[in-house]
Amino acid sequence: MRVLKFGGSSLADAQRIRGVCGIIGQARHREPIAVVLSAMKGVTNLLLQSAGEAAVGDAAYHDHALEIFAQHADAAETLFPATERASVLAPVEELMAELTELLRGVELVKECSPRTMDLIASFGERMSCRLVAAYLDSIGTPAITIDARNLIITDDYHGSAAVDFRLSYRLIAEALRDLHEVPIITGFIAATGEGVTTTLGRNGSDYTASLVGAAVGAGAIEIWTDVDGVLSADPRYVPEAFVVSRLSFKEAMELSYFGAEVIHPYTMVPAVEKNIPIWIRNTLNPGAAGTRISAEPVHDKHPITGIASIDNVSLVNVEGGGMVGVPGMAGRVFSTLARVGVNVIMISQASSEHSICIVCRQGQARAAIEGLQSELAHELTHKQIERFELIEDLEIIAVIGEKMRGTPGISGRLFSALGDAGINILAIAQGSTEMNISFLVHRDDRERTLQVVHRAFFGDGNGAGARSGRAGAAGAKR
Ligand code: ASP
Ligand code: MG
Repeated sequence: MRVLKFGGSSLADAQRIRGVCGIIGQARHREPIAVVLSAMKGVTNLLLQSAGEAAVGDAAYHDHALEIFAQHADAAETLFPATERASVLAPVEELMAELTELLRGVELVKECSPRTMDLIASFGERMSCRLVAAYLDSIGTPAITIDARNLIITDDYHGSAAVDFRLSYRLIAEALRDLHEVPIITGFIAATGEGVTTTLGRNGSDYTASLVGAAVGAGAIEIWTDVDGVLSADPRYVPEAFVVSRLSFKEAMELSYFGAEVIHPYTMVPAVEKNIPIWIRNTLNPGAAGTRISAEPVHDKHPITGIASIDNVSLVNVEGGGMVGVPGMAGRVFSTLARVGVNVIMISQASSEHSICIVCRQGQARAAIEGLQSELAHELTHKQIERFELIEDLEIIAVIGEKMRGTPGISGRLFSALGDAGINILAIAQGSTEMNISFLVHRDDRERTLQVVHRAFFGDGNGAGARSGRAGAAGAKR
């Protein structure tokens, strides 16, 4: 079996839905498939927004709820002849009525708990699946909607619930066994053992697809989106960026940690565990091969796989002679940062131990400095710590690839290229997995750095040429 997941952008309107159903129709002729769908484009946002508005008594929620219905009704108008429209829209109307009542309830009690929020958020996938299944039926592809709340069982951590894998795998496998119709499964939503609706976190439909794939031991999981695949670098800065045809799971995770629009690392876990390859494919360009992510290391002519970047970061430097040889300093620094809620993205400390350099999001840098100043006030007065330095407007660039491990000369090539281009590097970090070399440059150098590094490792591109993606290092999912 093959699992196909289509995201909201692939379901934006009637035309996109037609495209999706064309892909489904073809795929099912080759092998058994299961389909996982997100809500139509923008619908989950509208649902959450109207819930928030209802909770504070803002009447705008009425219009936003109507907008949701209109989006489905508009699509139905194009997809179905007038004679069929009413019966197709009936289940959507029923859901709409239920949603309206719920929102009215929220308005009355003037609050929307995370539990109610999840229930409200669930309507998007429930509606999109009904609409698409009806359309598939009408074009001769028998389909049935399957509500994932009967299959994926979670705890009650609303907003981002934890899955009971064993039970869910069993329920999914049972539900999909011997089906004659194509199952159209609601992404993103699940339920507790008591049947209370939960969600798997924003963009959770990828996760649903991964769970379904793992449960049925699928041969492949295809994530259909609106890009051609994962790119070698952010095409906004690197015009030669190309679609990377193969990635290992580890490389995909590295890229995702750097905010690349691949898929969330957590989402991949079930697929990784069961060793099921994940494909990133483009609904707007179904002929393109896409990117294949699998367990096998990639053997490709290039020594690296891709270049990722994170913008808007700051460097916090803790400097002082009093840290040399004193155990526990790093511990105190990091506990303090954890206490004040600062997420550390990159760390580097030279073996002189004279300074610890921490990189965090720009917006958290002030909190980091203030927290450290109060935690280390004593050391500051006694000059064991000389100063805290803050440098803003920086960019982390990471060169990623499994093949770097044990290949000498990669960092030499990287840093000579940067040196030749006169680009100043503020800090460097490499983990011992050798899958990634990260370094810090000033924002003004970002574009040139990405281009210089791309050229150093890929020359003028690899001739693959396809550039209509934007995944690579774009960071759009951050
Ligand atoms: N519809 C949900 C969201 O927008 C889940 C998804 O799109 O994957 O977060
Ligand atoms: Mg989405």
